[in-house]
Amino acid sequence: MHHSPLPFSAQLIEQIAADHPTPFYVYHEDGMRQRVRELYDAFAWNEGFKQFFAVKATPNPHIVAILAEEGCGADCSSPAELVLCEHIGLCGEGVMFTSNNTTSDEFSKAAEVGAIINLDSPSLLDKLQELPSLPPIVSYRYNPGSERRGNVIIGEPQESKFGCTRQQILEGYRRSREIGIGRFGLHAMVVSNELLVSSLLDTAQMLFEMAVEIQEHSGASVEFINLGGGIGVPYRVGEKDVDLQEFGAGVQSLYESLLVPAGLGKVQVMMENGRAITGPFGYLVTRVTTTKKSHKHYVGVDACMSNLMRPGMYGAYHHLSVLGKEDELSVSPVDVVGSLCENNDKFAIDRPLPEVQEADIVVVHDAGAHGHSMGFQYNGRLRSAEFLFNNAGEVRKIRRAETLDDYFATVDFPQPKKTGQSAAS
Ligand SMILES: *Cc1c(COP(=O)(O)O)cnc(C)c1O
Repeated sequence: MHHSPLPFSAQLIEQIAADHPTPFYVYHEDGMRQRVRELYDAFAWNEGFKQFFAVKATPNPHIVAILAEEGCGADCSSPAELVLCEHIGLCGEGVMFTSNNTTSDEFSKAAEVGAIINLDSPSLLDKLQELPSLPPIVSYRYNPGSERRGNVIIGEPQESKFGCTRQQILEGYRRSREIGIGRFGLHAMVVSNELLVSSLLDTAQMLFEMAVEIQEHSGASVEFINLGGGIGVPYRVGEKDVDLQEFGAGVQSLYESLLVPAGLGKVQVMMENGRAITGPFGYLVTRVTTTKKSHKHYVGVDACMSNLMRPGMYGAYHHLSVLGKEDELSVSPVDVVGSLCENNDKFAIDRPLPEVQEADIVVVHDAGAHGHSMGFQYNGRLRSAEFLFNNAGEVRKIRRAETLDDYFATVDFPQPKKTGQSAAS
């Protein structure tokens, strides 16, 4: 059964693999561009609608630059992400800084690039007051607590470390005005990987009602409402993609019934999706290194959890294709595993796949977001290269693979003891 057809040929992969060892990532440029256009199209009714790409999903400057060409800003939550954007000329109100547990140094970097600062709590205003000048605009991240249900990836709002309560938000706007900040936004991020339009709309409704309440209680009018990211990806065969037109139209009708009558008809709607923009358009390409039958049947590949930790960390499903065998029937189920000394280093458990041999290429679908970016170096397994390809069949290397020199760059080795000399001499 097909998930979605691969947008590249086996030849394209062999061409890359001829010069670069597997594993590596490939990203489909036209797919990402098209997705951003669809999102903007769904919100064409809202003047000033903006999508800030959540950089943590795919922090490659080439990809962030392509998305910026399509009109995206960037949503950053660390100094490294701010610096990445600075390097490609993305700054000012094209950057949203949504951090938590934030230090003064981090705020000063965000202020230096002119980012819109989205506060996790009004208590952070004290840190903003230490800056050489106050930011002209701030927003607050709302956490509805027990008023809203979350989902598996993000957890229940009440147990979430992110954001602040309704009372704190109202107090935050009052205090911000007292210290001289005059422009405001409102933000929440309560669901992630959400495929239900109704649930995404619940967030819009919650925030629109909150904006009206803020205006009544503190006199502050918000300029923008950021619905967060969280649009899901249909990872599993049979799951349906979010209908962006239906979602955009749903937000529009809430906007017209809640914000417009309250005199908030100029509010800009914003989003900060990561997963939905790059997730379906990135693939992890890995080669079968070993097969074995012990208590179960294992297929070992040359990628491991350090290249893609979602399956090991959340039990996430990623569809797998064996390149060139997409049309073959599956045989008995296998576990597809990496070589970390960790038993959760598995890309799939009990997965029906066609008969595979050593050197076959396995493609991991929907790995474009929170994939390479979550990589790590445990066991001295290194992060892979990244390539961009387009519909014209052009391929560009956008990150080289790490080397052992990179891995050892942060230590100075002790001098080896001379052979033949005893330690005591
Ligand atoms: C991770 C994150 C996002 C992006 O989430 P996706 O599920 O990738 O769309 C957006 N906003 C904030 C604050 C985040 O932490």
